[in-house]
Amino acid sequence: MTDTIPETLRSLLQGNERFIAGTPNALPDAVARVEQAAGQAPFAVVLGCSDSRVPVEMIFDQAPGNLFVIRLAGNTATLDAVASIEYAVAVLKTPLLLVLGHSTCGAATAAVDYAANGTTLPGAMQRFVDAVVPAALRARAAGGDWIAQTVAENVRHNLDQVVEQSVVVSHALAQGALQLAGAVYDLHSGRVDVIVNGR
Ligand SMILES: [Zn+2]
Repeated sequence: MTDTIPETLRSLLQGNERFIAGTPNALPDAVARVEQAAGQAPFAVVLGCSDSRVPVEMIFDQAPGNLFVIRLAGNTATLDAVASIEYAVAVLKTPLLLVLGHSTCGAATAAVDYAANGTTLPGAMQRFVDAVVPAALRARAAGGDWIAQTVAENVRHNLDQVVEQSVVVSHALAQGALQLAGAVYDLHSGRVDVIVNGR
């Protein structure tokens, strides 16, 4: 853990403050759009949840070109998610990776239901449930609000999963070219709380 918040993460948190206050800056900009057509240099790659209430660019008040976003139910570090993260890190040289969970996440709720009652979801959906179950089991052992703790554990778990699965990410970390963070978005307050800052 590092104590200082990197500049990139600070920018996200400042944008979140604007979002909470209802004073966003990130408005459509035709000039910027034309300039950006030549290439992208996002300052953060974000692995977030698909939940319709957590639009990543909006909650951080960021314009097009700033964030490289992957969204999957339960913000799980599947191999496809890792591949997209690697593109941002290795090709675009994005300096921050943020895994973003959120309160009362349906994937966390389903994982808790599976751990407590063995309830499964039909079709392919059990894939994301299974991916969140390790976090649900750790959260149960830790005590407290089971779903809220699962959301937090799942953020930590998926940060670990990215690093474990990705030589590209490990290399960038070793080079000091990438910083890691984990956070949880609160659906009621709109606030993003950082729970992991560096590693
Ligand atoms: Zn969710």
